[in-house]
Amino acid sequence: METADRVRDARRLQALRATGLLDAAPVPSLDRVTRLTARLLEASAAMVSLIDLDRQVVVSAAGPGVRQAVRDTPLSQSMCVHVVVADEPLIVADARADRRWCGLSAVSEGEVAAYAGVPLHASGDQVLGTLCVVDAEPRRWSREELEELENLAAIAESEIALRLARTEAQLSETRMQTVLDRAPDAFVSIDGGGAVTAWNAAAERLFGWSPAEAVGRPVSDLIMPERLRRSYGEALIQGRGGGAALDGRRLELTVVDRTGQEFHAEVVLQACSERGEPVYHLFLHDITDRRRIAVLRDAQQAVAQALADAGSAEQAAADVTAAVTGVLGWACGEYWQVEPGGDLISRTGLWTGPGRDLSPLTRDQPSSFHRGEGLAGLAWAAGHEIWIPDLRADPRDFIRKPAVLRVGLRAAMALPVRSGRQVLGVLTFFSDTVQEPDDDLAGLLDGICAHVGRYMERRRAEELTLTLAASRRRFEQVVTKIDDHVWSVEVAADGVIKPVYVPSNSTKVFGGTPPVGSDMVAVTRERLHPDDLAVFTEFHTTLASGRAAEVECRFIGLDGVTRWVWSRATPRREGDRLLIDGISTDITERHYLAEERELLLARERQQVRRLQELDRMKDELVAVVSHELRNPVGTIRGYAEMLAGDPELTGEHRLFADVIDRKSAHLQNLVDDLLDLARFDAGHVDIDPRPVSLARLVRLAADEHRPAAQAKRLTVSVEPAGLLPVHADPVRLRQALDNLLSNAIKYTPDGGAVTVTAGREGGEVVLSIADTGIGIPPEQYPQLFTRFFRASTALESGVKGTGLGLAITRAIVTAHGGTIAARPGDEGGTVFVVRLPADPPSSPGSAPPAEASGA
Ligand code: ADP
Repeated sequence: METADRVRDARRLQALRATGLLDAAPVPSLDRVTRLTARLLEASAAMVSLIDLDRQVVVSAAGPGVRQAVRDTPLSQSMCVHVVVADEPLIVADARADRRWCGLSAVSEGEVAAYAGVPLHASGDQVLGTLCVVDAEPRRWSREELEELENLAAIAESEIALRLARTEAQLSETRMQTVLDRAPDAFVSIDGGGAVTAWNAAAERLFGWSPAEAVGRPVSDLIMPERLRRSYGEALIQGRGGGAALDGRRLELTVVDRTGQEFHAEVVLQACSERGEPVYHLFLHDITDRRRIAVLRDAQQAVAQALADAGSAEQAAADVTAAVTGVLGWACGEYWQVEPGGDLISRTGLWTGPGRDLSPLTRDQPSSFHRGEGLAGLAWAAGHEIWIPDLRADPRDFIRKPAVLRVGLRAAMALPVRSGRQVLGVLTFFSDTVQEPDDDLAGLLDGICAHVGRYMERRRAEELTLTLAASRRRFEQVVTKIDDHVWSVEVAADGVIKPVYVPSNSTKVFGGTPPVGSDMVAVTRERLHPDDLAVFTEFHTTLASGRAAEVECRFIGLDGVTRWVWSRATPRREGDRLLIDGISTDITERHYLAEERELLLARERQQVRRLQELDRMKDELVAVVSHELRNPVGTIRGYAEMLAGDPELTGEHRLFADVIDRKSAHLQNLVDDLLDLARFDAGHVDIDPRPVSLARLVRLAADEHRPAAQAKRLTVSVEPAGLLPVHADPVRLRQALDNLLSNAIKYTPDGGAVTVTAGREGGEVVLSIADTGIGIPPEQYPQLFTRFFRASTALESGVKGTGLGLAITRAIVTAHGGTIAARPGDEGGTVFVVRLPADPPSSPGSAPPAEASGA
């Protein structure tokens, strides 16, 4: 190795510096060596020199020749450097005589003539310097002297080694501290009594105490929450066995920092002993975040589990509330559901922590709020979370806040559960301690709310689907039971019609069910009877324009049978969709019945027409016959009267003449009646109306009929009040009265009574003729005014008659604008009631009809 290389060797220089001798104060142990060397070798000076990079440093010098210690010498003036470079002793007897040394100043100045130096090694093979002796006079160094010098050098070497070792120890300790300070985890060492012996930078960062403050103090004062010191102390500090038993264990503990803030740390404990004393090393790692993440994850899992297990939306809400509150260790949680009407929010789920009595909060307090009321109502209205870290410090007021404070709750959170923009419900939580807003927690709760929202939405959709399916089934059941075909279609913007609902069975209308998936609209069109295309198209056009419509048209069924179908439909709008709901009924039978009825009706009309014709012909015949009979009968009557009036007529001839007179009178009446009827029927009613007193007319008629009544010992009472003016033809009216009075007398057996009353009722004059006679069977009243009709009672009693009187009477009353009716009397017999318009009429509307007043 070159001189320079050996001297500059980095490891050598490092070891040299590590000795600490280059700049050190006098080193007594080395001084003892040099003193001893100078004395034993009887040299003028003994020195320990160290060879630095560019100089020789004399760290110790002794001997009689040492007057002034020259500490640093350039290497060019150094003899020792040659020992170092050669790593072997250098023995010079007379330096002056040697060319190599004579130029050195110490030599030339006479201080050094003889020199002996041996290398001083550090551990390994590095030569740090020399132990040397010098004399001012030339001298031969004996072998013993040189051996002695070697031995003394070994002493110096051990001194250097000791220093190096000490430095090394110091260095490693410093290095250790550096390493520990750089460590991310807190490191704390404590002794058997629990006092801190080491405290790294991470510990300072974690707990706030500097190493200077921490070392020497009981660890319990520094990192343990007061309330837990006893239990920790027992486990960790007290009892060596306890500590040793925990060696290598990982523990999760709650610790506290300088400010009193508690947090969670993972602690790894190492128990060992130093110099027989127990020492504990604590490696502490802040796991607050990890723990929180674990808690959040647990909460998420609990929520997922609760939602998976829940049987209903309400149960899900209650279980989620319980899960979240329980995992986060809060005092109370509630779920508030927005009511279907959307006006109220009501509590459907409540969970309180174990052993916590929050009944004052739930009892006597409202469990429903309007929007904006209570904490739940506030979050509902806001649509976002409300976080109140400290209720005592928060100025916001809400219903129940006093109750919440009374039970000792400190923090409150309210989070809306949404589906899109719609708030479905609100989760509220209360905590016993102040809860600063925490992004992670808020994020978690937000996620949970979204989870619950989605669940609720899905649940609601499921429930709706089930309800819909059930109501569809019910609808289908009903629809299949009715004979009508119920349908719904949608009309697209381009006019294309798509079926929305068609019943599964179309047999009733289409004579079979089209294959599944067939286009019902197309089927309908295909099956439509060609003749009904126009009405069907109009039906569609009306519906498409948004108006209800109905149509009757024929369809050729899938079974080949043509049916009449009556369809009614109503359009309705759903947003911008046009839907049409309709019902179609098979009305084929009704159609046939209607057709048949039409046919029958036509036939009947024809029959009626024929009968009317016959009637007319008969009337004509009657009219002609009566007319032709009237004059001959009148003539017969006249001659018969004359004959009867002949005083010479005797016995049997007079009897014959009376019979002729009586029979011809009857014939004349009959012919008169027939003639009247014929006239009335032909519309030629000969009426000459004028103001007439009905009362007077009644009295006159009664008087005329009284003899006939008396003959039968009948009581005839006439009670018309006042004049009772009517606008009537007196002759015709009298004819009617005579008919009614004569009937009453004729059909009342001996000893009976006939009562005539008349009076005004509103705009009418009402005349009633009642008798106690043979009466008429009730079922025969409807035919009473038909010509030639005779009641069975009249026929049975043998009373003669023609059945024409009442027909004529009705014709007269009707011609006067009046009515006639008959009914059984209260105590037997018959009552006839005639109503005529009063004169003057009480109102213009009650004037007699033209036919009555005209002609
Ligand atoms: P007739 O000449 O038969 O009396 P009317 O037309 O006057 O003809 O009466 C028709 C029938 O009505 C009578 O035949 C009789 O059966 C019945 N009838 C009319 N008035 C009375 C009455 N006051 N009491 C019972 N039956 C009566």
